[in-house]
Amino acid sequence: TDRRTALTDQGFPTAEIDTSRPHPARMYDYYLGGKDNYEVDRVAAQQVIDLFPDAVPSALGNRAFMHRAVRFLAESGVRQIIDIGTGIPTAPNTHQVAHEVSPDIKVAYVDNDPIVATHAGAHLLGAGNTGFFLADLRDPESILSHPTIGRLIDFDQPVGLMLVAILHFIRDDEDPAGLVAAYRDALPAGSRMVLSHATADFHPPETGSGDAIDVYRQSKATATFNLRARAEVLGLFDGFELVDPGLVQLPLWRPDGPAPAEQELARVGIYGGVGIKN
Ligand code: SAH
Repeated sequence: TDRRTALTDQGFPTAEIDTSRPHPARMYDYYLGGKDNYEVDRVAAQQVIDLFPDAVPSALGNRAFMHRAVRFLAESGVRQIIDIGTGIPTAPNTHQVAHEVSPDIKVAYVDNDPIVATHAGAHLLGAGNTGFFLADLRDPESILSHPTIGRLIDFDQPVGLMLVAILHFIRDDEDPAGLVAAYRDALPAGSRMVLSHATADFHPPETGSGDAIDVYRQSKATATFNLRARAEVLGLFDGFELVDPGLVQLPLWRPDGPAPAEQELARVGIYGGVGIKN
């Protein structure tokens, strides 16, 4: 097929994929060891890793946190999930983890990157109880009123809202807390929010953390990377009560095995937590 005119399962023309600038989803895919990235992404992502090697354990730690948190949602009775900032499919994805606990869980996936759309048909759409659409976190109305949400999500029942490794792509002037609040206000009490967010709290400048985020800006990546301190990330949980162990460095959030070793922990510069809406 001619790449420029080929349509994906979802009907998005692959020509929409911009290979002239690094995209955060494709750089994250590179950190995770994936192959769904382009030269421009590999160059930028490798530059990040060279400056800040902990990008890789941080990304891997994030994906592992996401798996544990989805399992927690499913085991705590959540039967519908909105996953905003899905990422390029990397097995297991949210619905696969959820369906191991209960195959009736509905999952609505949302991302603003067409590359995710091109892989959605093959990897994210299950037995009719999952859906994917392209939309932007910064436009809550377009997400909350989308027909796919209407089909999958009942706002009278608790919802699991996933904002995993996405809010650090939102600048302060785009009001991350205000955006989270817009989604929160649409959810019934008892809903859960899973959130992770990169921080420099464990990575002072000499570790290269600041140089790494400069790569996103200097390479003209489609989003900037915004590290935030613990108090700011905690503020995103306004209106939610955090479940144990609270907002912590990801490997400390309900680890499957023994608590991680100190050196391993030190390499993960991301906070995560799960809150229950009051
Ligand atoms: N949640 C997944 C992927 C994280 S990578 C995980 O934790 O493993 C961040 C994802 O957020 C990328 O796929 C990127 O395309 C998406 N993203 C970034 N900014 C976004 C925005 N404003 N709206 C929607 N998606 C966005």
